Amino acid sequence: MAQSRAGSLALVGGVLALDFANTAGGRDLPEPIEHLQAPRHLLDWSVHASVLPPELAGSLHATLAADPKAAQALLEAALGLREAIHRVGSAIAQRRTPAAPDLATLRQVSAAALAEAQLAPDESGRCSLRFAAAPATAAILGPIAWSALDLLRQGDLARLKQCPAADCGWLFLDTTRNGSRRWCDMATCGNRTKARRHRHSTA
Ligand SMILES: [Zn+2]
Repeated sequence: MAQSRAGSLALVGGVLALDFANTAGGRDLPEPIEHLQAPRHLLDWSVHASVLPPELAGSLHATLAADPKAAQALLEAALGLREAIHRVGSAIAQRRTPAAPDLATLRQVSAAALAEAQLAPDESGRCSLRFAAAPATAAILGPIAWSALDLLRQGDLARLKQCPAADCGWLFLDTTRNGSRRWCDMATCGNRTKARRHRHSTA
């Protein structure tokens, strides 16, 4: 399996939940691309995507290293949530109705994290959810699941799109004024596909 780039992946989804869904790609290929191959990759990505402060990730890393079973359970819970977000997002991008079990997963993970969270006033005068630093499922999966919930409840879902490159399939919110964004990233998938087309047309 290719090396994980969990700690440096492009964050082009527009919201946290979609960036998390984009830690894998090419799901229809015989060998999908997986960046969360081990629990530490989940921590690497969480710091990269500002879900966890580095100090908390460091202490979680030590906790999980001492308890491989808990670390594996965390990774499995994370992958379960991620694939639910991906399937829901992909369905919406294709103007299909998301599957009930996937929506139930989002609700269950959100509810579990909410039970451990605080609702507190922030600088803006609004209130925000502060997720507990432990357990790790609440600390990491809570913000991601709530990001998905916020997107589904209040996001501009007409702008939710899926990159058409076969080895990608990343999800993103198209925030261009005329809704013309086709690729997750023009610099990678867009150019790659253009180059391939060019090669074909000149062959
Ligand atoms: Zn792409």
